Amino acid sequence: MSGLQARLIEIYNRLLGHFGSRHWWPAKTDFEVIVGAILTQNVAWRNVEKAILNLEAQGLLDPQQLVDAPLELVEEAVRPTRYYRQKAQRLRGFCEFLIREYQGDLGKLFSLEIEELRAELLALKGIGQETADSIILYAARKPIFVVDAYTRRIFYRLGLLPENAAYDEMQNLFMRHLPPDTKLYNEYHALIDGLGNNLCANKKPGCEECPLVEICVYHKNESE
Ligand code: SF4
Repeated sequence: MSGLQARLIEIYNRLLGHFGSRHWWPAKTDFEVIVGAILTQNVAWRNVEKAILNLEAQGLLDPQQLVDAPLELVEEAVRPTRYYRQKAQRLRGFCEFLIREYQGDLGKLFSLEIEELRAELLALKGIGQETADSIILYAARKPIFVVDAYTRRIFYRLGLLPENAAYDEMQNLFMRHLPPDTKLYNEYHALIDGLGNNLCANKKPGCEECPLVEICVYHKNESE
């Protein structure tokens, strides 16, 4: 085991010991995961939950229904998420693509290899790397590591990434040093987000309660 791999696993074990399993992604179906991944851009998860409940109440948690419904109805349902008009278009764009290219069958889309699947998703308007990777990991259940702003902040503070690390650089840190294990990647990302959400805030992080405090460069420097 490389030194970096050992550190990444230690961090994982500390986070898991503190937070327990996060049971992420909270969704009843794979399609709902995709809807959540598109809606969660730039907005808190509680807003996404409201939008998903609205979509469900309108019978719109289905690709064909979502394409057939008046766009205004979709917009109204996703209004709790910011940029709701744009997001309604993105949801519809994904559904149109799924129906046109894969007969509305997520199983067919997900039968692609990771690289091909990622390229297909990234070609769609409004689907960036984090959204595509969330869909691949949490809906298609294939081993790709999802990273985000929390990952950058926390792993910079731990001394494992530069402050302005790019998406690929962050993703490589995990994927080059950890085995391609869907379960591990699923839980690890969820734990990082749990720490970012609950303790490792941008200003005034809650270091006293943090399970990483003994190995955190930022905390060490701040307390000197
Ligand atoms: S010790 Fe503090 S700064 Fe370091 S990871 Fe934990 S909360 Fe963030």
